[in-house]
Amino acid sequence: MTNLRVLSIVLAMVSTSLNSLAQPRPIEIHDRIARNEGPNNRIALTLDACSGQFDEHLISFLVRNRIPATLFVTRKWLDRNPHGLAILKANLDLFDIEDHGENHIPAVVGAGRKVYGIPGEPDMLHLRKEVLEGARAIEIATGVPPHWYRGATGEYDQNAADEIRRMHYKIAGFSVNADAGATLSRAAVQDRLRRVKGGDVILAHMNRPASGTAQGMSAGLIELLRRGLVFVRLDQVDLIETESPPR
Ligand SMILES: [Zn+2]
Repeated sequence: MTNLRVLSIVLAMVSTSLNSLAQPRPIEIHDRIARNEGPNNRIALTLDACSGQFDEHLISFLVRNRIPATLFVTRKWLDRNPHGLAILKANLDLFDIEDHGENHIPAVVGAGRKVYGIPGEPDMLHLRKEVLEGARAIEIATGVPPHWYRGATGEYDQNAADEIRRMHYKIAGFSVNADAGATLSRAAVQDRLRRVKGGDVILAHMNRPASGTAQGMSAGLIELLRRGLVFVRLDQVDLIETESPPR
């Protein structure tokens, strides 16, 4: 191999690593419920309302069965779903409504940054606006200010996560991805819920009524109740970050 060839390989390696320095990989945050003295049978159901519609079947099922849940909603979703909002407001004893941003922009910052093809924020000022305007819309709609944040896609640049925490929002990760963005069949959702154990934070969606989520969740959540698991909301517990990959 000529010296020139070696040099060009080294330069290519340096430029690849510089690129990855300039473009850090976003992190997906995984959480479980922090242990307390009692039995470890508590689980948290979290449902995202990104944009899109209102999954009335899913929410009615939770109301009928008195299953508490934490709902991460965007301003965009609130604006488009007044009927859904009215139902949530009639059941604030059951539902904790938290911040999923203003316009469902992922918490990655810098020109050209994307998660799953969705563009992130150009700078920190826009990230702050996404978080604060989402929170403001929830407070206006429900009278209760949110304390938890979950960014669009659930992935974050480290500096974006740090900024959100400096703004005094806790970031909500998850440990069981129940519906893969409302893309799974009823059977697949039910199957994923069978993996749930005490301490888990379940993630699913409440904005795609045509998906298999409501049917799969209804069947799967009943099984969890039968197994003696107890649903809690994020305004009742704290979460701890875990290294384990989600189930
Ligand atoms: Zn979302």
